[in-house]
Amino acid sequence: MKNLLAGLAAAACGVATSVLAALINVGIAYLFDFNLFKLSFWVIVPVGAILLGLVAASGYHFGSIRFNRKPGKVLLVQMLVIAGLAMLLIYWLGYRMMRFGDGGYVADILPFGQFLHISLTKASYAVGRSSAQEAGGFGYFLAAIQFGGFLIGAGVVYIMLASKAMCASCELYLDELASKRKGYADASAASAYFDTLFTLPADGHAFAEMIRAEASVQKAEHGALRIDAHLLACPRCQVQTIDERVQGHNGKGWKLLQELDRRLVLPKGLNLMVAFGGGAAAR
Ligand SMILES: [Zn+2]
Repeated sequence: MKNLLAGLAAAACGVATSVLAALINVGIAYLFDFNLFKLSFWVIVPVGAILLGLVAASGYHFGSIRFNRKPGKVLLVQMLVIAGLAMLLIYWLGYRMMRFGDGGYVADILPFGQFLHISLTKASYAVGRSSAQEAGGFGYFLAAIQFGGFLIGAGVVYIMLASKAMCASCELYLDELASKRKGYADASAASAYFDTLFTLPADGHAFAEMIRAEASVQKAEHGALRIDAHLLACPRCQVQTIDERVQGHNGKGWKLLQELDRRLVLPKGLNLMVAFGGGAAAR
């Protein structure tokens, strides 16, 4: 019962932001005469649709965390279905608002399906500097790409949610208590920390010292690594978890090295707030 309610509450948040995404699109179209949903780069990269998909699914993200809804197949399917409906809503709102030159509503004359067919196939698009051409059957292909973009946006939100740490026994999302960043000039400098830390007993002095120790890199250049350690805790049982993310510098910028992500659940009762530089009486 509790799970059902949590699921419904999270879904309600998702529906709310999906409707919001559709309204944002209509609002922008109304105010600026610009269709964000159809915005794409090089015709086939649907940035506008991806963006709206992110907005549409964001409610699931916040709702699931707020109501501790576990990510899973049901949630993913729900997110995708609602994303699909939001996309239909975007088309439908465009349909309801469109007027002929004489001020009459298109919706009074044309059924929705016919409107959709016409607006997809008669839409014009331009590649680079070539003059605009009518989309024809290609319009359905473009719509499919936009739909794909919308789902990608929703999928990204799901992946973000699925990667969030949860307490295995309480099934609650963990709160972040503190974080600490260390920087290293190269992999061998980083390995003294990275390869050792999780081999030490977590409740020992050496473990806490290693977390407490400062390490920074003078210059961000190719091969440099930085490790962000996050101290998380379950809001109910208070058990703490260390979540580490590693970034590497490729000469141009920092890049997340996801394959090095790691997590360690600490023994019950162990509080590492002090090692992380936070107050002793954090909780
Ligand atoms: Zn817990």
